[in-house]
Amino acid sequence: MNGKKDYYELLGIGRNASEDEIKKAYRKLALKYHPDRNPGDKQAEETFKLISEAYQVLSDSHKRAQYDQYGHAAFGDNGPFAGGFDFNSGFEDIFGDIFGEFFGGAGGRRRSQTRGEDLRYNLSLSFEEAVAGVEKKIKIPRHGPCESCHGTGAKPGTSPQTCPTCHGRGQVSFQQGFFSVSRSCNQCHGQGTIIADPCASCSGVGRTRKMHTLSVKIPAGVDNGSRLKLRGEGESASSGGAPGDLYVVIQVETHPIFRRENLDILCDVPITFVQAALGAEIDVPTLDGKVKMKVPAGTQSGKLFRIKGKGVKDVHGYQQGDQHVRVLVETPTHLTGRQKELLKEFASLGGEDVNPIAKGFFDKVKQLFD
Ligand SMILES: [Zn+2]
Ligand SMILES: [Zn+2]
Repeated sequence: MNGKKDYYELLGIGRNASEDEIKKAYRKLALKYHPDRNPGDKQAEETFKLISEAYQVLSDSHKRAQYDQYGHAAFGDNGPFAGGFDFNSGFEDIFGDIFGEFFGGAGGRRRSQTRGEDLRYNLSLSFEEAVAGVEKKIKIPRHGPCESCHGTGAKPGTSPQTCPTCHGRGQVSFQQGFFSVSRSCNQCHGQGTIIADPCASCSGVGRTRKMHTLSVKIPAGVDNGSRLKLRGEGESASSGGAPGDLYVVIQVETHPIFRRENLDILCDVPITFVQAALGAEIDVPTLDGKVKMKVPAGTQSGKLFRIKGKGVKDVHGYQQGDQHVRVLVETPTHLTGRQKELLKEFASLGGEDVNPIAKGFFDKVKQLFD
């Protein structure tokens, strides 16, 4: 390991370079020397290997500290990182970034998963709650560090032991052609530690599922299938990454009177045939309570009336829909003798002009058969 070039010099950066500067420097050099870009060029391949090695050490704060203190000896046969370098861990992120872009992702390199998982919660709301907005307390099961063992997975009073097979690296390396290839250590399953006496609460996993209560503000105007994203309220990451997001998916219960079509409210209101014939002022239910609506004389069943501005406000509060009222003329049933008498008298008085729809219809039928 003697005579090796200084990692900082290799990447062309100062000893106080920030993580970002290290990444940028490596990015630039890796793009220049990547074997895919320099097929058959041994010199480029060797340079690529060296800068990758330098990046692996300097991008890992722990390894970097060791290197700063002990130089290359830190990674010698007796050093804390004996066993060579792995070309996979912490390395795929930057590969995903750079080579995904520049080589069309042909390598198919997997980005290491450091973010917590996203969670989905189905929230049922009443029709009114969806229209007016509401604050809801929801309970979501989420993983967190086990309280008994503080996340170590080892029985309280004991601690995990460094894995003897991989010396805590979690990976074992072997040479394959030019590259040092790593695979996950079989004994510790990549954890780097083994637990002789597992914690009873979490069975040695170090994480337990707990219910978390969360208060969610639902904005007015949400509809069936609306999705709210709560950043960072998903599953926590197992290895210090950012937590996932929580998606609250809205389901709106049906209403006995109202239906909704985007921002418009639809409802059916029955009227008597006398109201329909003579005209009337009727009470119509809206989301804000009852309003008066004029039905003109001679209104037919199924006619739609619009009440402006009585619909739903959109979630941003920019616009508001209307309410559409469909009047349904109800044919009277269970008539008394007197009522029947009056209706018969009414019928005997009715000429053709009283029922214009029927007149038009029978005129057409006549033309059809004559
Ligand atoms: Zn191991
Ligand atoms: Zn535990």
